Amino acid sequence: MTPGKLIIISAPSGCGKSTIIGEIIKNPDLRLEFSISATTREPRRGEVDGVNYYFLTTEQFEKAIKNDELVEYEEVYAGRYYGTLKSEIARIQAEGKNVILDIDVKGGVNVKEKYGDAALSIFIQPPSIETLRHRLLSRGTDSIEAINQRVGKAAFELTFAERFDRVVVNDILREAVDEVEKIIKDFVNA
Ligand code: 5GP
Repeated sequence: MTPGKLIIISAPSGCGKSTIIGEIIKNPDLRLEFSISATTREPRRGEVDGVNYYFLTTEQFEKAIKNDELVEYEEVYAGRYYGTLKSEIARIQAEGKNVILDIDVKGGVNVKEKYGDAALSIFIQPPSIETLRHRLLSRGTDSIEAINQRVGKAAFELTFAERFDRVVVNDILREAVDEVEKIIKDFVNA
């Protein structure tokens, strides 16, 4: 087993990706550590700087781009940048752990292309667009406007699924978690 592998998890938002990551990260056998991304979006209630994200100003983010501090970055929503810091990956690998990345579909494809066999990309798919809208509404963390924006984007994001190593449909959460866990176990132990 070689530590320091990258596991990329991407999905349209509301597909249960964060919940799945929250579950699998608890399994000590997988030696996973979450890569904390940088973003220019506002923190949501309960989110903590340096735990959920590194919350940066646009100026700080642009400086990081200029200084080549990011492995990848995307303007996931208009005016909202998200990116993976090289220092995060290095920090986790130095601890002898595997890196788990929760990033958007384009970022997922880019990181996989960069890291090749050292990375495994998993796409979490909702059973349908309607289920997705329903989940976002019941989560209650976003405005209707934001939800419409996310759902609209999801249809486009679903077209990226085939560019991932593995696709897992999240219909029944427990089953999706088990499936992702098994896929990661096989990869990290290979
Ligand atoms: P949220 O605002 O809901 O936390 O995240 C919005 C989207 O940005 C999610 O799809 C999430 O996976 C993605 N995201 C988070 N961090 C990164 C990152 O470092 N790079 C990219 N490309 N996307 C990210």
